Amino acid sequence: MNDIALTVQQTARPTGFPTPEHFRFAESPVPEPTPGTALVENLYWSVDPYHREMMDGDFELDSPLEGRTLGRVIDSRDPALPEGEIVFHRRGWRTHSVVGPEETRRLPHFDGVPLSAHLSVLGGTGLTAYVGLTRIARLREGDDLFVSGAAGGVGTATARFARLLGAGRLVGSAGTAAKAAYLKEHVGYDETFDYHSGPVADLLTKAAPDGIDVFVDNVGGDHLGAAIGALRERGRVVRVGTISQYNTPVAPPVPFNHADVVEKSLRIEGFLVRDYTDVQEELYEFAVPQLRSGRLTPDETVVDGFERIVDAFLSMLRGGNTGKMIVRAAA
Ligand code: NAP
Repeated sequence: MNDIALTVQQTARPTGFPTPEHFRFAESPVPEPTPGTALVENLYWSVDPYHREMMDGDFELDSPLEGRTLGRVIDSRDPALPEGEIVFHRRGWRTHSVVGPEETRRLPHFDGVPLSAHLSVLGGTGLTAYVGLTRIARLREGDDLFVSGAAGGVGTATARFARLLGAGRLVGSAGTAAKAAYLKEHVGYDETFDYHSGPVADLLTKAAPDGIDVFVDNVGGDHLGAAIGALRERGRVVRVGTISQYNTPVAPPVPFNHADVVEKSLRIEGFLVRDYTDVQEELYEFAVPQLRSGRLTPDETVVDGFERIVDAFLSMLRGGNTGKMIVRAAA
């Protein structure tokens, strides 16, 4: 085992897009578990848009950052965390973590399913997509969907799950023409567009001339205004995230026709996936057989090497990923 541990720390609060200068890698001896804890060697890290929000205040400066991580117990002083066990925990952004059983989840092993799926379709990303469709949109068979941020982790999982749940037409928007084409070819979208190629409302009208029943919104801003215009009667907006604003110090207000919300009896509902952990088992029951049969594929961009975690995070904020952005420990 390597006897040096690395942690990532935030050194300053950014205005707008963060840069590598807002972070430092700090070396220390590998920590020792104390009674009631275990030492975990981390294997996979999730870098997420909400980390950008946390950089504005919730991440303590000059301290190891936190994030969702999978690792293997390598030294244990608690019988609930046996050595060799693969666990999920939130003390990420570091090569080694000392954790207690109350802050870890032992991960079920599913034959034929890659471990990284526990951070993508079977993890918080997949749970967000699944809850958005089943609990917030209350998807009905044949519903036509529009998904913003369609090429990201939540966006790709939303389309794949929606298809399996019997949705109708799937329209998605993404940041490049290449991503838009990929989504149609590989992810199951019927129509897609690059949101940089014109006003979103015009692009959406062209992509979904007959309207939509559900809008799953990962982006906010213009996308939200456009989708409210395109929704049919009793349409639903699932507010998942607002990534178009995370790097914008003062976001402009979103113009939309407020009367539409009344006249079309629309429902606009946001949610936080952390309030739906009770749906995790249902997600396994739904998704694992589909993964095993090949009807469901995890969409992931995997970056190798913990030393590239900051680059992976910054790249994800600028659209460098297709599917869930994941960092993997060097073999
Ligand atoms: P992701 O979509 O995999 O990655 C972020 C993507 O955002 C990038 O790939 C980029 O793709 C897009 N993006 C960046 N700037 C943008 C802009 N100005 N306008 C439009 N798109 C932009 O990340 P994710 O983890 O799946 O998260 C997606 C959204 O869900 C985020 O808003 C996140 O905060 C939210 N979320 C919410 C919950 C919850 O509990 N409510 C849970 C998980 C995630 P392009 O190349 O297409 O621009």
